[in-house]
Amino acid sequence: MTEIQKSISKLEASVCPRGMKKEHFDYQHIIEDCYHAVQKMHLRGKVASYIPELARVNPDLFGVSLIDMNGNTYEYGDSRVPFSIQSISKVHTLVLVYRQLKSELWDKVNVEPSGNPYNSFAQLEFEKGIPRNPFINPGALVITDQIMSLYHDDKRTVLNFISSLCGAESVPVNKAVQQSEMDCSNLNRAVAYLLKSHGNLMHDIDDVIEAYTHHCAIEMDCTQLAKSFLYLANDGRCIFSKKNIIPRNLTQRINALMLTCGFYDQAGEFAFRVGLAGKSGVGGGVVAVLPGHFSITVFSPMLNEKGNSKKCMHFLEKFTTKMGISLF
Ligand code: GLU
Repeated sequence: MTEIQKSISKLEASVCPRGMKKEHFDYQHIIEDCYHAVQKMHLRGKVASYIPELARVNPDLFGVSLIDMNGNTYEYGDSRVPFSIQSISKVHTLVLVYRQLKSELWDKVNVEPSGNPYNSFAQLEFEKGIPRNPFINPGALVITDQIMSLYHDDKRTVLNFISSLCGAESVPVNKAVQQSEMDCSNLNRAVAYLLKSHGNLMHDIDDVIEAYTHHCAIEMDCTQLAKSFLYLANDGRCIFSKKNIIPRNLTQRINALMLTCGFYDQAGEFAFRVGLAGKSGVGGGVVAVLPGHFSITVFSPMLNEKGNSKKCMHFLEKFTTKMGISLF
């Protein structure tokens, strides 16, 4: 090796893309530090109870799992405790539809942040049955309806898709949670009727609600969820199934949607404080990606008033601040 080659490889060893220094990659240490710092804040929030079965979860669970681009896992706390993924499933279902319909999809669902709660349908009335984005409930119902048209065994397709993304691990549906949500689904049904009256829902409303609640009631742990999002940090290629899930340009758009619409009416604050593309669910999970670097899931069921997990938001803010990294 010549002197110049030696100094280049020394430089490469110490400096990573976007000017991040190698020592910044001590993920395990930083995760543990941030975890303990958040625990010391003694945060309390409310576990989601509008789906009664979700209220049975232990509020003190707290877990983290980060997977880097080589598939190395760094985890801490309750990272292997399965929980209800709820709205995080909206990303998986969107990808299944988007990769088939491509830009035609945007005739049925818009790509603007709503600035409203996930279950609001006020805008839907003014905007003639076109939901603001695929991550609020009206948008996710349209996506579910599309999956039912595009795939023969739609529910099995969603389960198999998620399972293949996380290395063929099976992902169960909690039937009690699904039934509990179906029993309390008046608001989602109202949204579905409004969509149907505008011609933006093809299937029978009961069937759409049944399929939608099925996706929401899927249970996964932090590590499985982080695995199932890693392809979004990897230009659409899943390193576990070794398949190209979606093309790079569509991957970039999914990430843009997560950044702008992934956290209900707190998406701006998440971008401001954390600076990653991500999605949360009322089960207490948050998944986020930094393209080219990692995918991370944090789980704690105590929610803030916007429906996002309190501890997860604080954890991720500390994590990206300490690492000195973000999308920006
Ligand atoms: N199944 C929940 C609902 O439709 C999902 C909400 C969420 O996680 O944002 O209300």
